[in-house]
Amino acid sequence: MPICIECRYPVSTLYTTYSKADDKALGKGVRLTQCPRCKRFADKYVEHDFVVLFIDLVLIKPQVYRHLLFNRLGREDDRFDPSIIRLGVLLLLFDVYLTWARIEKATPSSQSLTPTSLPTSPSSGNTTNLELSSIEHPSKFLATQPIILQYFFFLALCTLETLSFHLPLHFLLSLRLPRPFSSIIPHYPHKALISTALLVSSFTKLFPLLLLIWQYDLPSSASAVSWAVIINNIAALEILLDCGYIRASLLCAVGAICRAGVGWGILRAVGIGGGAAAAGVVETGDLIDMGKRMMESVGLG
Ligand SMILES: [Zn+2]
Repeated sequence: MPICIECRYPVSTLYTTYSKADDKALGKGVRLTQCPRCKRFADKYVEHDFVVLFIDLVLIKPQVYRHLLFNRLGREDDRFDPSIIRLGVLLLLFDVYLTWARIEKATPSSQSLTPTSLPTSPSSGNTTNLELSSIEHPSKFLATQPIILQYFFFLALCTLETLSFHLPLHFLLSLRLPRPFSSIIPHYPHKALISTALLVSSFTKLFPLLLLIWQYDLPSSASAVSWAVIINNIAALEILLDCGYIRASLLCAVGAICRAGVGWGILRAVGIGGGAAAAGVVETGDLIDMGKRMMESVGLG
């Protein structure tokens, strides 16, 4: 059943069509439903096009998330909307590109290991050689494989990382916990909707598309992207579960720790250790830091 995106009150329909209003694109004879509780339009976004939705997604407006999750993409049979599956595949492929690029930067091969390829701060300009010699030599195993095998490795890595982010949240939210714990972890058994919320809110992962056009400092832009993804993930979970930002942050932290553990374990297993594995899990460090800061700010506020 659709809901009012302003106050979450269930409404039977989002709009009413009148006779001779076959062409919905023209908007003739269509009247938006007024919410019986808050007296505002139940879902104004049914009239808006994708650009407006996208801008409001970037601005993390709760109404647009409610529109997408409850009124457009959510299904009664708890299955994925086809567009979400396509978005998931797209995000996965972008993740492969970003992870590969980031790990390649973090473990430069002997050919690409030139002073200019390494970021050095102005104050440490004379220590480049020292830094070069102190960098852990990366595993040759992955680098000597054919490029297609390398691609499949990163594809498998990103798939497992994504699964290890989603599945713990599915499991935790499907539990019916007794009273003290249920106030920390809400019960929400709709797995497809949880993953939909996480995927829709990860759309900022697509921003590095700009990296193909302009050259950016990859680690810092990847870090900025992961921050944006984390903030959006927390906001989406909070809007979906209506559980407050602290609990949403805790849930995201659990998922991110599992993802980081899996990613780190796989990278270590193929011999990519130290800095590169850490680069792969940088998002988790960011998340934990941010979770702490948010809890502090909420606690103080
Ligand atoms: Zn309402």
